Amino acid sequence: MDSEGGASLPSSCPDARKRRVSYFYEPTIGDYYYGQGHPMKPHRIRMAHNLIVHYSLYRRMEISRPFPAGPEDIRRFHSPEYVDFLSSVTPDTLHDHTHARHLKRFNVGEDCPVFDGLFPFCQASAGGSIGAAVKLNRQDADIAINWAGGLHHAKKSEASGFCYVNDIVLGILELLKVHRRVLYIDIDVHHGDGVEEAFYVTDRVMTVSFHKFGDFFPGTGHIKDVGANAGKNYALNVPLNDGIDDESFRSLFRPIIRKVMEVYQPDAVVLQCGADSLAGDRLGCFNLSVKGHADCLRFLRSFNVPLMVLGGGGYTMRNVARCWCYETAVAVDVEPDNNLPYNEYYEYFGPDYTLHLEPKPMDNLNLPRDLEKIRNFLLDQLSKLQHVPSVPFQTTPPTTEVPEETEQDMEERVKPRIWNGEVYESDVEEDPPLL
Ligand SMILES: [Zn+2]
Repeated sequence: MDSEGGASLPSSCPDARKRRVSYFYEPTIGDYYYGQGHPMKPHRIRMAHNLIVHYSLYRRMEISRPFPAGPEDIRRFHSPEYVDFLSSVTPDTLHDHTHARHLKRFNVGEDCPVFDGLFPFCQASAGGSIGAAVKLNRQDADIAINWAGGLHHAKKSEASGFCYVNDIVLGILELLKVHRRVLYIDIDVHHGDGVEEAFYVTDRVMTVSFHKFGDFFPGTGHIKDVGANAGKNYALNVPLNDGIDDESFRSLFRPIIRKVMEVYQPDAVVLQCGADSLAGDRLGCFNLSVKGHADCLRFLRSFNVPLMVLGGGGYTMRNVARCWCYETAVAVDVEPDNNLPYNEYYEYFGPDYTLHLEPKPMDNLNLPRDLEKIRNFLLDQLSKLQHVPSVPFQTTPPTTEVPEETEQDMEERVKPRIWNGEVYESDVEEDPPLL
């Protein structure tokens, strides 16, 4: 055990601190645009990349442009009808008879609009996560990063919460070709529902989600949802309340993840670094600093298990860019200067022009006794996993077969929304300078 409490395992690297980092970036990703006033802005990924370049972090890692995931790659998780729809619908054909009848069925329209280049956007996001998995599978990298990935709400036949294609599930399926057990950890403010559902009945993937629970999108992720069948006790949910700060978050994250690593002994780890859990997020309600958020990555890195690092939510763009740049620095083991280097988007970072951000003066509604209860409940659940599952090493486990709903059910069902449609004043300044 090192002083940080992680367990650095023997590594192929002679220097226990060094990790070979592979970084996936699609240069056109920042051009995709969900629509006016929409909180999800792919431009934030370009802003993060820009900081990464100006801090010279690119010199310490291998940079790849992802191959776009093909329809057949995406069908490894998603249904053929849904993939056909995503690959053929455009803003112009949206209301054609064939597409219009599918909008409700596939939950496309409000939270998840049809925008120009929707399918290439999904292909780039998924291509990055599959590419990251391939790097780890071949042992060509110790850490593989894809900030355009982490779209954890997408379902087999349904878009949800700004996510259309679940790059995480596709990346994990790729990892399972080589690795017996994969641990998925999600620190987005929203529950990682799509990934949990996909692997709910298998013990080859353990999912752990830290999220705001209670009158909040998507509504799932109760502490008592623990998986089913062979997957029973292999799903973990950590329900949190508004205003959680660095110290409270760490007091759950570290002991729970330490125990998970000990009892589950994953061969690979996937960390979804949704940045909407930061202080001041437009849709989130947590109060983490960039350092507190990045502490999750720092801790996981110390175990020296192959690690995939993905993006996710994050709706105050300047803070998303700060966070993912700093986490890239943590991956390559550099401590960047707090004063931002001059860069193309410098004006976004005023008035302080610093990398780090201060937590907000807000109440932390997570009381110490609640945190202790949650920690004890989950450590107890983990103590029921006495033995590492010795899985028969077949190809890949089946992902959850969710019973198909009829089209009628689909149309009558009211879907929760992640965004209430409100447009914020800050949008104007946050929209990219005219292209
Ligand atoms: Zn989120």
